[in-house]
Amino acid sequence: MGTLNQDLSLFNTLTREKEKFVPLEKGIVSMYCCGPTVYWYAHVGNFRTFLFEDMLRRVLEFNGFEVRHVMNITDVGHLTSDADTGEDRMEIGVRREGKSAWEIAEFYTRAFFEDAKRLNLLKPKVACRATDHIADMIELIRKMEGNGYIYIIDRGVYFDTSKMKDYGKLTGMDFESLNESLKAGARVEFDTQKRNITDFGVWHFSPKDRKRHMEWDSPWGVGFPGWHVECSAMGMKYLGLTFDIHCGGIDHIPIHHPNEMAQSEAATGKKLANYWLHAAFLVFGKGVRMGKSEGNIITVQNLIDEGFDPLAFRYLCLTAHYRSELVFTKESLQAAQNALFTLREHMQRLRENPEEEKGPSRKTEEYRKEFLEAINDDLNMPKALTFVWKLLREEKEVSDRDKYELLLEFDKIFALDLAKSIKKELPKEAEELIRKREEARKIKDWKTADRIREQLKASGVLIEDTPQGVKWRIEKR
Ligand SMILES: [Zn+2]
Repeated sequence: MGTLNQDLSLFNTLTREKEKFVPLEKGIVSMYCCGPTVYWYAHVGNFRTFLFEDMLRRVLEFNGFEVRHVMNITDVGHLTSDADTGEDRMEIGVRREGKSAWEIAEFYTRAFFEDAKRLNLLKPKVACRATDHIADMIELIRKMEGNGYIYIIDRGVYFDTSKMKDYGKLTGMDFESLNESLKAGARVEFDTQKRNITDFGVWHFSPKDRKRHMEWDSPWGVGFPGWHVECSAMGMKYLGLTFDIHCGGIDHIPIHHPNEMAQSEAATGKKLANYWLHAAFLVFGKGVRMGKSEGNIITVQNLIDEGFDPLAFRYLCLTAHYRSELVFTKESLQAAQNALFTLREHMQRLRENPEEEKGPSRKTEEYRKEFLEAINDDLNMPKALTFVWKLLREEKEVSDRDKYELLLEFDKIFALDLAKSIKKELPKEAEELIRKREEARKIKDWKTADRIREQLKASGVLIEDTPQGVKWRIEKR
């Protein structure tokens, strides 16, 4: 750490290749991540993408880069279909809870950051709200207008995608085949006033018969900005006309990201971002995606209510490469939690074991090097994890002290709180029972002592009487 590492490679969706990462400015990385739409709780499927972005940032920082991490908060204009049909999602929140759109946004923004904290996500350097940047968006649309890219229909101001020669390059399809495939798929409702099926709204007009909670004046009429335009306006405002990395989930590859790219490049004539990175979906068993529209969402709070440590989910995400689907089941989460707790137990043992100090061996350096190679190889976390378990099995060549130090270093990437004292996790009631059992043993009341032992076991706390006193461990939750 500290020195710049130049051997990081990342898979770029734009070129479909793993590329050596070279930032625009030496030592500094500008990174834009599409943020949450704050009309409801983010679910763990959403958080898989945010966790991937967090790991990306940690890997960049581990390599000595300073990361300018910007994330937007979508609090207006994200319609129920990414392809500009349906209603503003914020309106769904309004109907569901009978509050104003502003109150909904405030509440779910706070909830998002609380959940993010529980998952050890580093806070973006800039977290910017769409509604605070309406003027920037209007300015950007004016530039597109000046360059001849927009037209007006009944619903709003639209971007003519046929004017961008390479529209859709992120999807790997040319303009015609992309439009044809969308028409054939018929998953997109086609507004007959639109010139091309891929055209999208940059400014939506308010309905004529009612006033929205969130609406603004614009040179084209009262309304609200399109979802895509907010990312372009805020990304360029905080990171410059061209920045290094743009990331999100793979659901952004067909529509949202091509649109961001097209309108930004139409306005500025410059490439928006050099590297486009996307995380695959979290799925249930047979490829069923977790999503609000699928009605099968699980939140971070749901995990906690079921007795899981939120970081067990973080561990689970590390077990699959970010570009592979991650299968989420209660069993896989339980297995992840067991592994996490076992790791913390190992850490505690290593910390408490006053073993002789040998100094870093060559083997220790090998582990460090292999770990770095794994994380720098397009964030190969599953491989990096295998080094953790291999290291723990190492018997002779690495001292316990080195193991501990090395794992602490690895945890800068994993962020699993490996050094967390597991004693703190013993429930208050169990602590009380252990104390009562000790009292019973003192007066040789073995019957009571055994009964308490069984009681503890039933709640997942296993105890062992050693010459140094009672030792306990949590089997499962
Ligand atoms: Zn975006």
